[in-house]
Amino acid sequence: MITIYCLKVGQSRYIGSTKNLYNRMALHKSQCSNFTKRKVYKKIKEEGWAKVECQPLFISNNLDFTQALQLEQLYINQMKPDLNERRAIREEATKKEYKANVYKRLPKHYCECCNKYISKYNYQQHLLTKKYQKWRKEQDTHAQDGYP
Ligand SMILES: [Zn+2]
Repeated sequence: MITIYCLKVGQSRYIGSTKNLYNRMALHKSQCSNFTKRKVYKKIKEEGWAKVECQPLFISNNLDFTQALQLEQLYINQMKPDLNERRAIREEATKKEYKANVYKRLPKHYCECCNKYISKYNYQQHLLTKKYQKWRKEQDTHAQDGYP
């Protein structure tokens, strides 16, 4: 099982992937006293472990190692965490590769205003769009009119 996770350290973010989140967290905790040169550990040491919060972004049983790294990179590209110093993968995966390996595995969310499934990440962004806001407003208006 592969978990892509986001570490929130105070206001900062780090994205990583692991086969065992529990062990990985223990490692992060122990490494912050040894590997303080790396941004993420420096920050953890600065803020204290109590301020570290781990949020799983994606959990999957059917990603291989390369696909996991591609997905991790996709999250890094989108969320731009300030504590990641290196890319998860050396080369930008082609769009075709993303589509075949990564995109179709992303959790999907059904959007009522679009009448289609969109990826969970894009959905979060979609909620902020004018299109969605307008649709939402119309729904609320109907509700006020006593529309079922
Ligand atoms: Zn929509």
